[in-house]
Amino acid sequence: MTAYTQRIEALRNEFEKHKIDAFCITHIPHVAYLTGFSGSSGMVILTATEGHLLTDARYTAQAQQEVMLPNMAIHTERDWWGYIKSKNLLSGAKCVGFEAAHTSVASAEQMKRALEDCECKGIVGVVERIVMVKTPEEVEHIRCAAAIAARTYEHIIQIAKAGMTEQDIAAEVVYMARKLGSESEGFETIVASGIRGALPHGRASHKAIRHGELVTLDFGCRVHGFYSDMTRTFAVGEPTAFQRALYALVLTANEQAIAAARGGMTCGELDTIARNILDTAGYGQYFVHGLGHGLGREVHEKPSISYRFAEDILPEGVVITIEPGVYLPEQCGIRIEDNIWLTSTGCEVLTSAAPKHLLVIE
Ligand code: ZN
Ligand code: ZN
Repeated sequence: MTAYTQRIEALRNEFEKHKIDAFCITHIPHVAYLTGFSGSSGMVILTATEGHLLTDARYTAQAQQEVMLPNMAIHTERDWWGYIKSKNLLSGAKCVGFEAAHTSVASAEQMKRALEDCECKGIVGVVERIVMVKTPEEVEHIRCAAAIAARTYEHIIQIAKAGMTEQDIAAEVVYMARKLGSESEGFETIVASGIRGALPHGRASHKAIRHGELVTLDFGCRVHGFYSDMTRTFAVGEPTAFQRALYALVLTANEQAIAAARGGMTCGELDTIARNILDTAGYGQYFVHGLGHGLGREVHEKPSISYRFAEDILPEGVVITIEPGVYLPEQCGIRIEDNIWLTSTGCEVLTSAAPKHLLVIE
């Protein structure tokens, strides 16, 4: 069985639990995950025995090249639901599930009109739960992306200096990562210096980096469709004792969470380990987001390591980020983000090639 057939079978095994006899997959990263199709327009219909990939005429050749699965027919049509109805592709189905979190109201209406004799059931998180557990091959792609990120960071540390703008640095990050083999960025590169560091998602601006500032750099690289997502914070000129102490605190939160991480624990348990360290030091209120998130074909996947999903179990095999941060308004920000692969007894750090002690540039 290929990886794709295994994934499709894993999804079919969920049908009974949700009392559906077919499933409609509309989220493009999920379409790619299940079939290998990399186009930007597509939908998959799965019954217990058949599969149908619907795309449009722009992708006829590409779909035929990329999707070679038994029992997966490729259709290039404009009006997918009209076509499904006219060809009776779901004739035997009584209840068809669809991805409620990834289907617009208008699409759901179209679906219901086409499948008038059949129940349409919005389901959340089915494909996500299969996607989040990674095979060794998938992890290898993320490992490669993380290795590119580490080499890119090494380059940035060598060339960055006071006077360069955040945009200059972002451009170097993107250029070097691509030169080293990254397929794309995943998200807009974050470079946030000085007081802008207090913005957890500060896009690179035209502000120049200056002596005495901390700079937070957060960027993604992609290999074979899988992303890394790494953050490092460095100092421009000799940091103050306060900056060093705050950095050491965030690093401890990062390291303690990684030391404790293993498959089987809850998201809440893991989040609390880092949060308690920052809380005890009096900075808990400045850690304004969850500890991390799943990582794969999308930069943000399930699970979500935060108190909002405290009871969710972190299964063995997930790849997640560990990214504690402290953001002091009008002062500075520090975040240190790694990518880890959970095993039953611990984890493998995929971003270990990028140094984590406070690097100082001139
Ligand atoms: Zn990040
Ligand atoms: Zn992240």
